[in-house]
Amino acid sequence: MNTWDDLEMELIKWSDQGVSATFWWRDDDAIDQTPALHRLYGYSRKYGVPLTLAVIPRDARLQLCTGSGVPGNLRLVQHGYAHVNHAPKSDKKSEFGLHRDLGMIINDVSSGLAILKKFPHFFPSFVPPWNRVDPDLYDDMLNSGIHGISTFGSRGNREPIPGLVQANTHVDIIDWHGTRGFAGVGLVCKQIIDHLVARRTKKCDFREPTGILTHHLVHDDECWRFLDVLFGKLGGHSAVRWLDGTEVFTA
Ligand SMILES: [Zn+2]
Repeated sequence: MNTWDDLEMELIKWSDQGVSATFWWRDDDAIDQTPALHRLYGYSRKYGVPLTLAVIPRDARLQLCTGSGVPGNLRLVQHGYAHVNHAPKSDKKSEFGLHRDLGMIINDVSSGLAILKKFPHFFPSFVPPWNRVDPDLYDDMLNSGIHGISTFGSRGNREPIPGLVQANTHVDIIDWHGTRGFAGVGLVCKQIIDHLVARRTKKCDFREPTGILTHHLVHDDECWRFLDVLFGKLGGHSAVRWLDGTEVFTA
């Protein structure tokens, strides 16, 4: 377990080396304007932290990203197609594994892309539901117009295939296998620090920004309180640079 002080100590090491610790923020499962999404937008505006919102195309409503309150640095990316599991019960949940006819799978990618292209702030990157996608689909995804991919855990290569940039998340604030609520300050700080240390010591790709993953629709009070403190501490931190959803997949 780690503390806020441990995180500050790690960031001082980045400062001492004269490099910025890059971060990005991805929130999943948006389909509509809700009080929780409004709150999320408020955090992005208040702390100046760019928000990348993974939107489920099939059910998405245009109003989720139009009107007042939408942060200026918002980017939308594609979150699967329908967020439906196609894996057999014995496997982990997945919408974009090789469980179906290839044509059907790629049609879902293209259909989702066509829907979201009509939304302002959209950038053509793909976040597979449950962070699972079969890499054999990457060529077809790229040919469909997808230029970025994002799952969970340190990436292997910046471009798993030429032209497709991978930028993952590394910090999940929710304890999915236990309480399904906030995972706790100690554990979440540990995830942040572990990735920063691995980058700084070149045990993983130094250039991959540390990705904070949230799910606004299931946040309990503690999740919100944590984000308030996190963004309060790191929003304007001199050692930290927040990337928006375009920079993440092009920088
Ligand atoms: Zn999801």
